[in-house]
Amino acid sequence: MKTITPPDELKKIFASDLKFIQDAVAEYYPDFNQRRRNKIGNAFWFAAVAHDGQTRFSGEPYFTHPIAATKILLQIKPDIDTVCSCLMHDVIEDTDITAQEMEDRFGEDIRFLCEGVEKVAKVRLRGQEREHESLRKLFVAMAQDIRVIFIKLADRIHNLQTLEHVRPEKRKRIANESINIYASVAEKLGLYEFKHQIEDLCFKNLNPEIYEDIAKQTEQSFAVQEKFLKEAKVQIAKVLKKENIPYRQISGRYKNLYSIYEKLKRKNFSHVSEIFDLVGIRIILQETGDCYRCLGAIHGTWKPIAARFKDYIAVPKPNGYQSLHTTVLGIAKSTSPTEIQIRTEKMHLDAEFGPAAHWAYKQTRSSNFDDGYLEKMSWLPATIEAQDQETKKTNQFFNRISASLSQDRIHVFTPKGDIKNLVKGATIIDFAYAIHSDLGHTCIAGKINGAIKPLSHELKNGDVVEIVTRQGRGPNPLWLNFAKSPSARGHIRGYLNKHQIKTVPKEANLHSEKTLEKKIKTVSEKSPIKKAKKKTEIFIGGEKTGNFHLASCCKPKVKDIIVAYVPRGNQFSVHRQDCKTLNRLDPERILEANFIHTKVIIIEGTDRTGMMRQIFDALEHNDQNIIASKLRTDGPAGNEIQWRITVESPSLDDYQKAVKALQSIPNVNLVK
Ligand code: MN
Repeated sequence: MKTITPPDELKKIFASDLKFIQDAVAEYYPDFNQRRRNKIGNAFWFAAVAHDGQTRFSGEPYFTHPIAATKILLQIKPDIDTVCSCLMHDVIEDTDITAQEMEDRFGEDIRFLCEGVEKVAKVRLRGQEREHESLRKLFVAMAQDIRVIFIKLADRIHNLQTLEHVRPEKRKRIANESINIYASVAEKLGLYEFKHQIEDLCFKNLNPEIYEDIAKQTEQSFAVQEKFLKEAKVQIAKVLKKENIPYRQISGRYKNLYSIYEKLKRKNFSHVSEIFDLVGIRIILQETGDCYRCLGAIHGTWKPIAARFKDYIAVPKPNGYQSLHTTVLGIAKSTSPTEIQIRTEKMHLDAEFGPAAHWAYKQTRSSNFDDGYLEKMSWLPATIEAQDQETKKTNQFFNRISASLSQDRIHVFTPKGDIKNLVKGATIIDFAYAIHSDLGHTCIAGKINGAIKPLSHELKNGDVVEIVTRQGRGPNPLWLNFAKSPSARGHIRGYLNKHQIKTVPKEANLHSEKTLEKKIKTVSEKSPIKKAKKKTEIFIGGEKTGNFHLASCCKPKVKDIIVAYVPRGNQFSVHRQDCKTLNRLDPERILEANFIHTKVIIIEGTDRTGMMRQIFDALEHNDQNIIASKLRTDGPAGNEIQWRITVESPSLDDYQKAVKALQSIPNVNLVK
């Protein structure tokens, strides 16, 4: 790798930060050699140069942000690639550097991590803030590599620390989103330290007055507790020594402000001093067996509150958390109960920094690594592929987590912000049935991120999907060509069977549809009727299809209101709505249908802001499906426009309405 030499003025400002980061990594990283030191140096200067000249809202040089985020990240002892990527996490998004350049210089992994951070940033709360669980899953699923989440959390913590430089409305949104998504993701991953930092920062921004109040009260209470803690530690050490139980550490543990606030609310307390577990004690030991012996010694000396005893070593929490929790009376003459957490050093690392700690632990101590961490994370969206013993042994921890973030599912939103987890390749019809079978049966189209799309449209991760329905519609056999999920297919088949609508094999159906289309097209060029109508397809039940014939009994014309009769064969027959024949047919199998009228609309006028949006809206609201458009600008200022838009119209009536709507738009002078 080419070494990057930074300009002197950058060196002057940032060299000490680089040294701080490199030294911090050297502390925990096994054989942190010169090559690794240089790799961090290169990433550091590369980002410093790329961001040179940019400033933050606070007026500081932009690069101070990735530096600060990296320092936060160092708490969880990340690997070298993660450190480098954190330093460069805003380079692709905010500078001229492309992802390819990043890869050329730093390799595929770092490019992947940096791009991942950018992608995850796009997960936002929408609409009603419900189903946070789903958002968390989406967040994790989109990250694909757990290290992306580490970086994103560190990035978010620093942004929260500097939130006072952001507009107040935006401040609130960011804090809300952080507490609902980021703090929860941190918790689920077992990154409690990050969780607490995020919570307190959000709390401070969402509720500054209460925050200040609780902070003040807590400070006073902590001062009182300090003396108690000192005495308690001495007493516990004595007991352990007497019982000959080796221990690593006995320490005080303070609740974070947000947890205090939550507890005050929950218990309806008016003052912080009413909370008895404001401070707790944590005892760290070497072996699991020592934990139980320690527990015995404690219970033998002070009276435990039976209802508050929890053995999370034998029965870990879903995220893998392990510890013994007990609450006893009378330590150091305390009049209130004292909570004690008892755990091994390894459990402690897990508890504070979750998966990151596993990584550090694995690197430094080859024994004891808990390879089953992931399996305990039952909330992760994916099924974990069974891996054979050999790969299991050699595989990196991170690869395993990443593998669990399934690639064969996608997550999409309802307009209210709910999430649906669908198979990859799922279409709008799958989404509709995933919500409710009635919605599936009556759907005719979908709005994807606001744009109308046909039912066969394939969904992508993160799409917001709104279903458009029309009562009285029902599934048609064509849907089976693009319904991917077993449940949607089941519902459609069920409906078709119940209504005795014959389905044809997929191949045959597609084939016949194509040839028919061709046939109708060729006919349309010759037949005088067809020529007059200039059309090859109609909408049946909201689906565009060429798989139909015009009934000979009533010979529908393009301006007629029509219906389609669902056939026993594979071709719909189209009748006029007032055709007498329909009386003899099964009313259940008559579907609403429309001719598609292809029209060219020419709009002339003087351009102004928002006009195009209004034009689009006018067309969309009147069910005009835009299939092509061509814009010409003219005039000295280039603001005289002529816009040719080709639309497909379900009826002449709707078309007339659309034209009227267009004419009423200010600055539109002529609609042809
Ligand atoms: Mn950032």
